[in-house]
Amino acid sequence: MSRLDDLLDTVEGYRDDMIKEMTAMLRIPAMGPENGGEGEYERAQFIEGLVRRCGFNEVQRFDVPDERVEHKVRPSIIARHRGASERTVWLVSHMDTVSPGDANAWIHPPFDGTVVDGKIYGRGSEDNGQAVISTLFALRALLGLGLEPTLSIGIAVVADEEAGSEHGIKYLLQKGLFRQDDIIYVPDSGSKDGSLVEVAEKTIIWLKFIVRGKQVHASTPEKGLNALRVGSELLVDVSKHLYGKYNAEDDLFRPPRSTFEPTKRLVNVDNINTVPGEDVFFMDIRLLPRYDPQDCIDTAREIARIFEERTGAEIEVITQRIDPAGEATPIDGEGAIMLRRAIRRVLQVEPVFAGIGGQTCANWFRLAGMEAYAWETIDGVAHQANEYAIIDNIVNDAKVFATLLVEMCYHDQFKEPCPDY
Ligand SMILES: [Zn+2]
Repeated sequence: MSRLDDLLDTVEGYRDDMIKEMTAMLRIPAMGPENGGEGEYERAQFIEGLVRRCGFNEVQRFDVPDERVEHKVRPSIIARHRGASERTVWLVSHMDTVSPGDANAWIHPPFDGTVVDGKIYGRGSEDNGQAVISTLFALRALLGLGLEPTLSIGIAVVADEEAGSEHGIKYLLQKGLFRQDDIIYVPDSGSKDGSLVEVAEKTIIWLKFIVRGKQVHASTPEKGLNALRVGSELLVDVSKHLYGKYNAEDDLFRPPRSTFEPTKRLVNVDNINTVPGEDVFFMDIRLLPRYDPQDCIDTAREIARIFEERTGAEIEVITQRIDPAGEATPIDGEGAIMLRRAIRRVLQVEPVFAGIGGQTCANWFRLAGMEAYAWETIDGVAHQANEYAIIDNIVNDAKVFATLLVEMCYHDQFKEPCPDY
């Protein structure tokens, strides 16, 4: 009979190794073409080696063709430890990162993996390197015991999460790699104290508005049609109207309402004394899953049409992205109960189940009808300059995953793993 405390001591003993592997990984850039990079090829090779070092012997690489990058493929790593049942508990992380952005804003260079004051700095440290390391080292501790799990265990470290997952998890889902009754954990969203478990996400819609008027000299505006003025009024009106029409609140979500935010605006004329003939702006919409995305887009188009009639401008509304949200994962599901026990046992905090406006790989699993939970312990510095991961969080998350897997897959082989929880 094994004892959970011994297992957690083993995980604690990996602390230095976790730091070593994490810093080595952060030194290998892994940005997709949308982020100005050449893809994940080199980092995938490193991770494949790490997966083997952690004790997996069934390791596969899935290369999704992508002509835009140097090696012409976007690789994802899948590793399995077979149990008595084919049903699998998956830990899913992503290896790609966004670009560092303004290089001057970084105190510790983005690809150095600098360790200072209990933190590891670097692009992709919190998002999502921490998860790669915490999940793999939890497994290293368990695989080292040489026990056969009841349910099978799977690790997926995927590409292309930051730009839509077409060359990553979406491809793997189409390949039929996952079973309908598998349970999925995605450590790519969380809170500082580790209490937040994400069980639902909002639909994402990106709209592009093109307003065409007539460019003239600013001293004779009556001869033209100021596209910036029409665009500005439209921007405020569309946003207000959508906030008013889709105003339902759902307390599962943070924030509880749908959001309709004007974001990007394209540069127009170079000089101050020209009335612009074109105005282009974008809107980022996070819609509660209860609403029909098409209905929302139609509403935005209808307002644009009214503006056309009123002003004489020509207005085009283009849908740039539409990612529907899957149904919320039940908070009383088997996977939720086990995660709750593991979080309480290791972190001594009370888990809170909630929905968010962001999007993680968990959404694609939910859309495919699977139970998916996004959880980890983070400071929320993803995509920022001087992104970091707290070393204690990496180690403690690994302990939570080890405990979770004991509860789900090795329960009878451990002595009272979570007796009080
Ligand atoms: Zn992420």
